[in-house]
Amino acid sequence: MHELSICQEIIIQVNEIAFQNQASSIESITLQVGPLSGVEAPLLKQAFPFAAAQTVAANAELIIEELPIVVECKQCGAHSNVVANKLICSQCGDYHTQLISGDEMLLASVELTREKPAEKNIHLAEANHV
Ligand SMILES: [Zn+2]
Repeated sequence: MHELSICQEIIIQVNEIAFQNQASSIESITLQVGPLSGVEAPLLKQAFPFAAAQTVAANAELIIEELPIVVECKQCGAHSNVVANKLICSQCGDYHTQLISGDEMLLASVELTREKPAEKNIHLAEANHV
């Protein structure tokens, strides 16, 4: 199952982040998933508990945010938000476009719990490619 191996990758990454931040557990994991990434959000959510079992992320909530599909027009240079089956420029209508985003999956943020409850809510400044 494709989604399970993705979840296992995510667990490896968040485990590392938890270790670096001396966190005792992970509260939530936010992923940003492009519609063209080939990743099915419901399947990811289903697979997650299996990958997370007996790790620091065992009780973590998996939050999945959908990214927009953005293309750059090769004719006029405009950036357009488009839908998956219609990758055309919204400015001039040209179909010679290049995908800027929409096929990626990013680990956007991880919410950690440390031993000291005061230091909660560690968010990654930059998104990491999974
Ligand atoms: Zn255009």
